Amino acid sequence: MPGCIWQGELPVNQTKRKGFYMGTVYLVGAGPGDPELITVKGLKAVQEADCIVYDRLASPELLREAKPGCEQIYVGKASHNHTMRQEEINRLLAEKSREYEKTVRLKGGDVYVFGRGGEEGMYLKDCGVPFEIIPGVTSAIAGPACAGIPVTHRGIASGFHVVTAHSQSDQLAEIDFRAMAEGKETCIFLMGLGKLEEIARGLMDAGMPGSTEAAVISCATTARQQVCVSDLEHISRKAGEARLVSPAVIVVGQVVSLREKLGAE
Ligand code: SAH
Repeated sequence: MPGCIWQGELPVNQTKRKGFYMGTVYLVGAGPGDPELITVKGLKAVQEADCIVYDRLASPELLREAKPGCEQIYVGKASHNHTMRQEEINRLLAEKSREYEKTVRLKGGDVYVFGRGGEEGMYLKDCGVPFEIIPGVTSAIAGPACAGIPVTHRGIASGFHVVTAHSQSDQLAEIDFRAMAEGKETCIFLMGLGKLEEIARGLMDAGMPGSTEAAVISCATTARQQVCVSDLEHISRKAGEARLVSPAVIVVGQVVSLREKLGAE
């Protein structure tokens, strides 16, 4: 049990034992931004939670669904503040499961898409804390969709890559641009706005034509949604001129052209 706060086996039922609960932790995907895009099951978990541990990308409106007295703990990154370290979040979840019957860990999008949800689940498992996963609608797919861009389309894109431009070691070095440039799949980048120029360059250096359609969707599915469309060669400059802000999804591929028909504007 590496790094685990528990000593020995703990019971995995939810009965009240000597003043504390051996409760359940629900890892809940909050959806991409629009609070109505949480799942029915996720919303129910939020409404029934005794404690909600939430991060920056989970829609604040969802917290209003919490019952009175629900403890709400913010563990996300605010500018100028330090993020709570992942190990501390893990430990917090295990601690809250002793205090409460139902603890919700509310995370933006889907729990297991770049949200370190897997690490939280593994830690809880190691500690013998029961947890349940309630998947969410990921921004990787819903972001483009709400901007009029289907990530697959018959005859145009038979699949998609979803990659992060941010990683533990050296960010872009790990991206297999060649595989992405050679295939016919849509390329979707999360956490990439600050590296848009390098991403575009990486794809073009790997052989993708500079004329390939590209889009950046900022604050997707919210009232602040902004979309910038260009080709690969100019997307970085255009997104800069439009002053797009994070969070943003980057989409590269022919499917972007479908926005002309499927987009709202
Ligand atoms: N688990 C999340 C992703 C977390 S990583 C999910 O499934 O959506 C954080 C990245 O997600 C951001 O940097 C951004 O690339 C993307 N993202 C999350 N919410 C977004 C939104 N409303 N609009 C655009 N991008 C978003």
